[in-house]
Parts: sequence; structure tokens; C-alpha cells
Amino acid sequence: MSDLLQQANLIAGEWTLADNGETIDVTDPSDGQVIGKVPNSGAAETRRAIEAANAAFPAYAAKTVTERAALLRALAAEITANVDELGRILTMEQGKPLAEAKAEVLSSATYVQWFAEEVRRARGEVIPSPWPNRKLMTTKHPVGVVAAITPWNFPSSMLARKLGPALAAGCPVVVKPATATPYSGLAWGVLAERAGFPSGVVNILTGSARAIGGEIMDNALVRKVTFTGSTEIGKELLRGAAGTVKKVSMELGGNAPFIVFDDADLDRAIEGAMIAKFRNAGQTCICSNRVYVQAGIYDAFVERLAERAKALKVAPGLEEGAEQGPMVDGPALAKISELVEDAVGKGGQVLAGGAPHERGGLFYAPTVIAGATPEMRVTQEEIFGPVAPVYRFETEEEAIAMANDTVYGLAAYAYTGDLGRAFRLQDGLEYGLIGINEVLIVTPEIPFGGLKESGTGKEGGWQGLDDYLETRYTCIGGL
Ligand code: ADP
Repeated sequence: MSDLLQQANLIAGEWTLADNGETIDVTDPSDGQVIGKVPNSGAAETRRAIEAANAAFPAYAAKTVTERAALLRALAAEITANVDELGRILTMEQGKPLAEAKAEVLSSATYVQWFAEEVRRARGEVIPSPWPNRKLMTTKHPVGVVAAITPWNFPSSMLARKLGPALAAGCPVVVKPATATPYSGLAWGVLAERAGFPSGVVNILTGSARAIGGEIMDNALVRKVTFTGSTEIGKELLRGAAGTVKKVSMELGGNAPFIVFDDADLDRAIEGAMIAKFRNAGQTCICSNRVYVQAGIYDAFVERLAERAKALKVAPGLEEGAEQGPMVDGPALAKISELVEDAVGKGGQVLAGGAPHERGGLFYAPTVIAGATPEMRVTQEEIFGPVAPVYRFETEEEAIAMANDTVYGLAAYAYTGDLGRAFRLQDGLEYGLIGINEVLIVTPEIPFGGLKESGTGKEGGWQGLDDYLETRYTCIGGL
């Protein structure tokens, strides 16, 4: 077995099992086989991890930015050097095609690299004083111990966006990866040790979400919680954070509209729709959930989208040429089936897929449903699967109104050849991330984050670092 496939918690620089000796099976979603076991930890282990992080904080925060940047660069180099192995681990536990898994791992390295660079510019300011003989200034300081809770759909890169800025800023971390995909997260522990991070700066533990999450939220030593996951759990954590007024970053659910206007470049729009919908089998918070197509181009669009969807190679992620892997688990597959049945029951026409894939197991056929209407559940609920409901619209105003008619506000995409319209969409769409004639819009340089119930805080950009720093103000008088 690979030495990156760790099956223990990393707490205070030691790899240990759960106090009760219990483990949780981790399975490969492509065939249901058990890959291994990870500790079923609870509150006591979490408390120790938090205390270890807190003990490591002063010395780690006292390191210069160049020292911390060097550690982060070493971490990025470790990730890059192990991309093949990390990619295989990711595919095995998560299911996505190997090429996508490796791309995710490499993107993790670029996030770490970005924050290594950005922290050297984390400067405060000197403020012009309205009073004589006084100096007013701000300085930046690490927030303190950070707890990171990550999801199963991007088990590597979601960690990179949290560990990268926390470690750059000078904050030790306690990480709880998703139970379905713990190995990509635990591997970060090995890589962090190899990169030379001091003991206690990176702590990672697996187990009961409720017990670990409960301790994280209640423990006053944790000064920030950064979470990516469902809006439902995010709201619970926000309530929990109130008890000790922790800082929070929340990357929650999405319901991305994908709007195609009559004047769009159809080839480009189809290309974009395929990526925005079927990447990671649709299990992405920025995946298009609702496809809105203007009447003049509607029939041509749905026909071509269905053709392309039918041609996707659905296969285990490690199989050569796989383009869409399995769903993560049974409940995810069941929810997708339910949503499709609801849409069909309300008049949707299935142009591709519409049922679990003939391979069986957790595979679902890439699906295109024409004639989608606002009454269907897919209009308001996150599908998180390879299903594209396509709605018809007539005017720009109508499209913007429908696109915004959701509690979510993460990503939105639109295809148009009209420059004026592109700018009107920029103002009109209530979304934190907007792609016009482009779906590959995420990179470490930009502030990723949602509006409305999609969350709070940014990941990436200078903002993604600033979210891990406190601004202190000092006034020196009597000068
Ligand atoms: P998703 O299914 O989209 O990953 P979840 O919100 O269910 O979304 O899970 C995201 C992460 O949050 C996972 O690591 C999960 O184990 C964790 N989690 C779930 N419930 C809680 C909880 N009550 N407290 C803390 N973490 C939780």
C-alpha cells in the first residue's frame, strides 16, 4: 500500500488510532469494494488536536513570512511530485475519472503556491491622522487555530483552499475530511510532515461528523471555522459559531443557471454546457443546475446537448478514457433518480439518459431533460448529478429574473455575442462567480465565494488570505 494512504489520525505530530479503537470502512464508489479503514474519532481526539494546534500557534505565528512561504512552497512541491499517487487515491475513494483527479491535485498545488506568494504582501496600512502628534496604523495577525471541514466532491482542492491560506497566515489547523473520502485529506498530513511543518501545526482526524463538529464549534480555542458542504450543515455550523463568536468561511450549496442567448456561439455554448454540467458527474457546487435557452436556439441546443451527453463514456474513474464516474453513494443516486422522476412526471421530455446507467452500481446515465418548468423540483434543489433540465425563455429580463429566483448565489454562466448584454448580466445576475462565454473560471488568483445562502467569505485571491488574518488598529499618541 502507498505510504500516502494513511489510516490514522495526525494529532500533535503522532499518527494515532481512535481512542475507542473503532474504525469506519472506506469504499470505492465504482464497485463498492472496501479500500481500507480510518479511525472513528470523537470529541476527545478533537480536543487534543485543537490543544496541539493551540500549543503550536505562538512559535508558528512567529515565523517570518519568508519562512512560512518556504514551507508552503515545499508542500506544493510535494503535492506536485506525488500527483500520480494522489490522483489514484482520489479516484479510488471519490470515483471521478483519473484525469480529473490529477487535475484537482495539481490545482491544490497551485493554491498552496499562490498563498505562499500572497502572504508576502499581507500588509497593513498607515492611516493619515486627523489629530496632531499621533500615528494611526493597522497590522495583520493570524486569527489563531483554524478548523477546516471539507466535503467529498473535491477532497483535495477544497483542503488546499483552506490549508493554504491558514498555514500562510500563521494559523495551525485541525482538519476533518469527509468520511466518504478521508484518504486525500490524510495524505496532506504526510505531505505536510515531509515539507517540514512543525508538529501540531497540521492535525487531521476522521470520524463522527457530529462529535468532531460539535467539539470544534464549542471549543473556544478554535478562532475560525472554514467549511465547504451543504447549506443545511453550514447553517448549523453558523449557529454553533455564535457561542464563541468564531470567524467563519462558508462555501455552501449552489443552483447555477446556465443561460444561452440566441446570439451565442452555439459550439462554444455546447462545449461549456458539457463541462459545467458533467464534470465530476455533476457533483460540483458550481455545476450548472438549470439550463435556460432562448427560444430561437432552443431546439438546436437541446438536440446537440443530448447527442453529446449520450456519447459520454461512463466508467470507473481508473478505466482508460472514462469521462463520467459513479455517484458518491446510494442516497446521492436515489436523490437524482427521484428528481428525474419528478421532472418527467411534470412533463419533462427525456432526450438522453433519464435512468441509472446500464453499468449498474452507482452509475447514472448522463441526462438531458427538455421542456423543464419552474414547478419541477430541480428548479429549486441542487441536483448534484449528471442531469441537465433545459428551460425555454424569450427575453433577457425573463432569463435574469428566472436565474435569480433561488436562495443560492454561487455561480452563473451565460453565453451571448452581445457585449452590452454581457455587462448587463454582470450587474443583473446575483452571483458571486459569473462566467460569460466561459465556464473554466476558477483559479487561485480569484476570490471564489457565494452570495445569499451559498455562503460567506472568499477562497483564493488576496481576499482568501485576508479571511485568515485579523486587522488590528494601533494609535500611538504623545509623539
Ligand atoms: P456534502 O454531502 O455536500 O459533502 P455535508 O454538509 O453533508 O455536505 O458534509 C460536508 C462535510 O461536513 C463533511 O465533512 C461532513 O462529514 C461534515 N459534517 C456533516 N455534518 C456535520 C456536523 N453536524 N458538524 C460538523 N461537520 C459536519
